[in-house]
Amino acid sequence: MKIIMLGAPGAGKGTQAKMIAEKYGIPHISTGDILRANIKNGTELGAKAKTYMDQGLLVPDDLIVDLVIDRFQSDDCKKGYILDGFPRTIPQAEALDQALAAIGENVDYAINVEVPDENIIRRMSGRRACVGCGATYHIVYNAPKEENKCDVCGGELILRDDDKPETVQKRLGVYHEQTQPLINYYDNKKILKEVDGTVDMKDVFAAICNILGE
Ligand code: AMP
Repeated sequence: MKIIMLGAPGAGKGTQAKMIAEKYGIPHISTGDILRANIKNGTELGAKAKTYMDQGLLVPDDLIVDLVIDRFQSDDCKKGYILDGFPRTIPQAEALDQALAAIGENVDYAINVEVPDENIIRRMSGRRACVGCGATYHIVYNAPKEENKCDVCGGELILRDDDKPETVQKRLGVYHEQTQPLINYYDNKKILKEVDGTVDMKDVFAAICNILGE
């Protein structure tokens, strides 16, 4: 099963993607996580990506496309995978389609988690990420057991630069301009499924499971 998660930054698609990956036993491929790991490890890609990410801009397509195409050709992706944060532009979607067509495959579902901008801005200002392992929390909706401390590794929790209000506004603008057109793209391909992302995350998950089947 090959799934793409669509939705504005902060719509909760990362949380849902992790839950789906676990339930269906497929890898969760998050381009944001891959880029952040590169930044942490001080790679050349990380240094290039950071300048865009800190401004709320998308990393150029040529830095990201090959990375994803290489990743989904690994052995652990034979049963399928869930792409979170990719594609984010029409050229990325076209590159993905071409790479899949070349091996006789296609995407099964593009799931759009819908959340209005006002809710996103409210949500993102409360988001916290662990400096150690990258686990994410929300001070209201998904609080850590101990304030500012990661439940997983005990690391410090911070507001990521790209979750700061001014960057969130910028990211939403970029989303509407460059990523939202993918909704029509996948609707035309008859694989688009929409879920309401404003309800409780367990209900969002139930709606997605209903689409994907048991
Ligand atoms: P995310 O964690 O998915 O919200 O991604 C964080 C940031 O990484 C984004 O704001 C972009 O700067 C960058 N990024 C992640 N995925 C992509 C992508 N597919 N194309 C371009 N930039 C990306």
